[in-house]
Amino acid sequence: MSQQITIIGGGVIGCFLAYRLSLEGASITLLEKDSQGAGASGASAGNVQPVTGDNIAFECKLGAESLALYRKYLPLIKAESGIDFREQDTRYLYAATTENEERELRDMLSHMRSAGLRVEWVDSKAVKGLDPRLSPDVIGGMLHQDCMQMDPQLFVDALALAAQRKGAKFVIGEAQGLESSGGRVSGVTLADGTVLPTESVIVTTGPWSGQLLKDWLDITLPIEPCGLQKLHLKLKTGGAPLGCAVRWGGVNIVQRVDGLIHAGSKRDPNAFEATPNDESRDWLLQQVRSILPGLEMEVAEARAGCAALIPDRVPLLGPIPGIDGAHMAVPSTDGFLLAAVLAQMLTTSILKGEQHPMLEQMLPARAVLRR
Ligand SMILES: Cc1cc2nc3c(=O)[nH]c(=O)nc-3n(C[C@H](O)[C@H](O)[C@H](O)COP(=O)(O)OP(=O)(O)OC[C@H]3O[C@@H](n4cnc5c(N)ncnc54)[C@H](O)[C@@H]3O)c2cc1C
Repeated sequence: MSQQITIIGGGVIGCFLAYRLSLEGASITLLEKDSQGAGASGASAGNVQPVTGDNIAFECKLGAESLALYRKYLPLIKAESGIDFREQDTRYLYAATTENEERELRDMLSHMRSAGLRVEWVDSKAVKGLDPRLSPDVIGGMLHQDCMQMDPQLFVDALALAAQRKGAKFVIGEAQGLESSGGRVSGVTLADGTVLPTESVIVTTGPWSGQLLKDWLDITLPIEPCGLQKLHLKLKTGGAPLGCAVRWGGVNIVQRVDGLIHAGSKRDPNAFEATPNDESRDWLLQQVRSILPGLEMEVAEARAGCAALIPDRVPLLGPIPGIDGAHMAVPSTDGFLLAAVLAQMLTTSILKGEQHPMLEQMLPARAVLRR
């Protein structure tokens, strides 16, 4: 008999898990309170871009592994679902306009290279050749050849359909609690009072996970809601496509397959209620104009979403302490990138009992602070 697992949350993490676990023969039910991708995932930029924050070596390694898994599974997901999620290989210029930025990028470059990623340093002359509209203030940059970008909502839809074609059931409903028997999870209580029986549960409810696990199990985990805003820009008529994607001043600027240019993200203090606001819009436009002053464009759309933020940026992945058969998979703000590797790690851990060498540092038990 195949293992029966209920996944709570239909973002990119839950849907990737539903796909991977179904592929391995598990019996999957995915419960989503709204529609798949309705959380941060559908609003994401869709960058599969091993990028780094403070935890450079760890993030590079995990990101590089996820990128490789994306490349492995994307053709299968596309063939299984029949959905074109507009994926593309992208090369990102991490631009430096000051010596300090150059120092930080050169340090990042060495970590990325150690993780097996294709990165090189380019000087100001080479930068001009990438796109003549880049600012003359750019003194050089790290050219990262190894990224991908896709339409995030279409990709989540493709994952969901591919999972369903492998036998997964997708149910609309809001989980309101966990049932247990003898210390082991036995069901999920829904908002209408019904109980969905299950042998195992995976909580993939993004920024909602902190409050839900506190309410359900009295567990406190370091998960904060983080509102993020992005813009879609339209090139003025006759404008040449971007020569490469650019990252500068904390903003990614990448042209999508549909021609729109994504610029994001700006943190939104309203977190859960994240709604586009003029202040963030103006700041994002200012960043784009500073680094690409020659780009003639207009705003086509502003969008905001709320992602989970884990202060040390190490995802929370694995068994939830205090109850057998319950697991969680909550990334920090780079969950689109990490979806493939987190799904792989949890799938092999649950179904085969194999522990990935990096899982140890992600175990929720290390972060849990019981009251
Ligand atoms: C503007 C923006 C740009 C971004 N760009 C990138 C990027 O380029 N690359 C990158 O790696 N990351 C990016 N991110 C972050 C990324 O989108 C998230 O980290 C990722 O989507 C998280 O996926 P998730 O499945 O964990 O959460 P979510 O997508 O939030 O999914 C959680 C789901 O759980 C459901 N849910 C919640 N509570 C319940 C309940 N009680 N019962 C049932 N269902 C429930 C919600 O409705 C939701 O659909 C971006 C985010 C934003 C907002």
